[in-house]
Amino acid sequence: MAHLSLKHIEKVYPNGYHAVRDFNLEVDDREFIIFVGPSGCGKSTTLRMIAGLETITDGEFLIDGKLMNDVEPKDRDIAMVFQNYALYPHMTVFQNMAFSLELRKVPKKQIEEKVLEAARILDLGDYLDRKPSELSGGQRQRVAMGRAIVRKPKVFLMDEPLSNLDAKLRVQMRLEISRIHQKLGATIIYVTHDQTEAMTLGTRIVVMKDGVVQQIDTPTNLYNRPGNLFVAGFIGSPQMNFFDAVCNVNGSNVDLQIGSSHFPVPGDKAAKLIEGGYQGKTVVLGIRPEDVHEASESDKADGKTIPCVIKFYELLGAEVYLYFDLEGMQMTARTGAATELRTGSEAHFSLDMNKIHVFDKETTCTITN
Ligand code: ADP
Repeated sequence: MAHLSLKHIEKVYPNGYHAVRDFNLEVDDREFIIFVGPSGCGKSTTLRMIAGLETITDGEFLIDGKLMNDVEPKDRDIAMVFQNYALYPHMTVFQNMAFSLELRKVPKKQIEEKVLEAARILDLGDYLDRKPSELSGGQRQRVAMGRAIVRKPKVFLMDEPLSNLDAKLRVQMRLEISRIHQKLGATIIYVTHDQTEAMTLGTRIVVMKDGVVQQIDTPTNLYNRPGNLFVAGFIGSPQMNFFDAVCNVNGSNVDLQIGSSHFPVPGDKAAKLIEGGYQGKTVVLGIRPEDVHEASESDKADGKTIPCVIKFYELLGAEVYLYFDLEGMQMTARTGAATELRTGSEAHFSLDMNKIHVFDKETTCTITN
């Protein structure tokens, strides 16, 4: 059992830099929590405060109801896997994994049991006699995880554990970590700047920017219901398209106007714009590339389409990204590889208005998703 509670956590470094502000999070047993955000947003600082490697300037950090602020790192029952998983080069895989247990004077027989169990989980059984130099990058990474696993900690902390690996191995290790999480039933907090890692691994994701939490939610909710412009732009690849649009209200009908193009807004979203008093105001319209479609003949007849010339065609195997301009702003559409459009093609696109997101231009908060 491990329940973590972070309440109003602040971090001000000795040089006065305020790296983390009012961080609040409750982590349940077995959750896989991701801290994600651009470089320098305070992810590692927060993780290091949890580990006890940085002091907490203000606020409370509790594990299973016990205040941890002043507890030594070694007494927190937490294991950390770093980006630089420095293994002891002169020790075998077995010895690397056994080392922390030996330091704790765990009986030899128990050490052997724990190391063999970890080796089984990590498929390292055949490599126990090898030195780190005789292992691939992925195998070394697994040994680093093994060193954490043998301690059976309450919580695993991982700081960009895959960032030194090549792209193929990253995918493999991502699946591996997911499997280990399921197998161990462990509570994990994992730092990454990679939103794909965040989306695929996390049960919940904490999105941070400039030391401030922007949203804490499941991957699906972050994708479909981003709480502000930053989250909408950060999660999803290719990025969501954004346009300044003027909100025109006529009775209960609302349209969003981009240059000379008018896009009618469906009822529930229109109601939010009317309630919010956005009539005549400029808002930000967001639409994901997969919600921009090649227009059907009936769309064209309605005149609600965007005529354009394709500027770039990018084939990614199963899908295609098409880039074109809408009123001088670049737009990306994501479509199947079967499309006949190519660079230079004339085309018509429509926006799936049921899927739009609208943001307040000043506060950047979401008005409707
Ligand atoms: P992230 O992990 O999101 O990339 P960090 O938590 O490492 O970001 O850093 C957050 C901010 O705090 C950065 O602007 C960084 O420069 C600053 N910072 C980190 N460590 C120190 C320190 N020891 N003293 C002063 N500022 C620091």
